[in-house]
Amino acid sequence: MATPMFRFDPVELPPEAIKLRGEVRAFIEEHKDVMGFSRGEHNPEFSQAMGKKGWIGMTWPKQYGGHERSSFERYVVIEEMLVAGAPLSAHYTGDRQSGPNILRFGTEEQKSYFCPKIAAGELTFCIGMSEPNSGSDVAGTRTRAVKVEGGYRINGTKLWTSNAHNADYAILFCKMAVDEEQANDRHAGATQFLLDLKLPGIEIRPVINLLGEHHFNEIFLTDVFVPDHLLLGKEGNGWNQLTSELAFERSAPDRFLVFFQMLQQMIRMAGPNPDKATAVALGKLISQLATLRSMSVSIAGMLAEGLQPNNESAVVKDLGTRYEQDIPVVARQLFPSEPELEAIDVYETMIARSTMNAPRLSIQGGTREILRGIIARGLGLR
Ligand SMILES: Cc1cc2nc3c(=O)[nH]c(=O)nc-3n(C[C@H](O)[C@H](O)[C@H](O)COP(=O)(O)OP(=O)(O)OC[C@H]3O[C@@H](n4cnc5c(N)ncnc54)[C@H](O)[C@@H]3O)c2cc1C
Repeated sequence: MATPMFRFDPVELPPEAIKLRGEVRAFIEEHKDVMGFSRGEHNPEFSQAMGKKGWIGMTWPKQYGGHERSSFERYVVIEEMLVAGAPLSAHYTGDRQSGPNILRFGTEEQKSYFCPKIAAGELTFCIGMSEPNSGSDVAGTRTRAVKVEGGYRINGTKLWTSNAHNADYAILFCKMAVDEEQANDRHAGATQFLLDLKLPGIEIRPVINLLGEHHFNEIFLTDVFVPDHLLLGKEGNGWNQLTSELAFERSAPDRFLVFFQMLQQMIRMAGPNPDKATAVALGKLISQLATLRSMSVSIAGMLAEGLQPNNESAVVKDLGTRYEQDIPVVARQLFPSEPELEAIDVYETMIARSTMNAPRLSIQGGTREILRGIIARGLGLR
């Protein structure tokens, strides 16, 4: 029999993960004043409180500040936090992808320095991949690093860098010069650095989003000197490292819970005896959610087995963002109202925020077309 191209084994959460859920809910209740809707705010105190609970870097080795817990326990913590609208942004990128990438490719010194600080909620990372002319085509990066005495000299521009204005470090993706033989290899010379955002020559300018909020940024690098010890992995191995980082990014269970509170609100508004059309529309959203969740728990199961479910993650991200973008559309059809960002009525605010937030979901972390390309490759179609 041919090997299945995708694996979504039915997986049950183990008892220790179920037990943890109660503890996480109690913690959220204690911190209910900082819970919000649809965007995990930057709140270092909250991240540090999570760090004290051992809920950042949960699966990492204890030697590097981790807690050697299972992917299922991590899943439960993230799921509960997302549903509650917890302010995760001070640690989320570090926990999800920068820390794991440092653990995989970093030197002993880098692992010992960065990972415990990320796990304590004391160090914020951001993602320095996209540029004005290379988003989907990240291999087309124009940011250049040149080897100099004791380090590297870097010039270039990064764009859409979420949370850079609050972050301590970025994992910077750039290119180094290659010899003639490699000139046609678009991945040759790709290199990653652990970029201290306070270094001279770095300027971070805000980019204001549709909601009028400062969430992402443009970063200008002019002759920035990065010392040798902050090269991540190897010169020229950046493409391989970046692919691994994106797999960490896409395997997170955060691709269908951003508007969960909106769904709850719609269910409340429908009441115990909704008309048939309302019941059908809400039933469809709830059953889709249940399916996405099973698929996502299944991915946690594969991570627990040490597998790399890159194709499965692309499927869940694509279906998840489609699902999330449907929520405000269904809401507007079922319960029409005037969207108003600053409304007193919770539903009016939610509908405004979710409608304006929805487009970003199928762009960040890889657009729909790019994900479908990955899925097609996974199916052997290209
Ligand atoms: C909210 C948000 C947060 C973000 N945060 C970060 C961050 O922290 N760090 C970071 O580095 N980046 C970040 N990004 C950038 C994001 O990764 C890019 O926007 C994304 O990869 C798309 O790149 P682009 O905007 O240059 O669009 P383009 O790549 O120019 O794409 C434009 C359109 O063309 C399509 N397209 C492009 N190439 C192909 C192809 N080969 N086949 C088919 N269709 C194609 C795309 O799907 C899209 O529809 C963020 C984006 C958003 C919206």
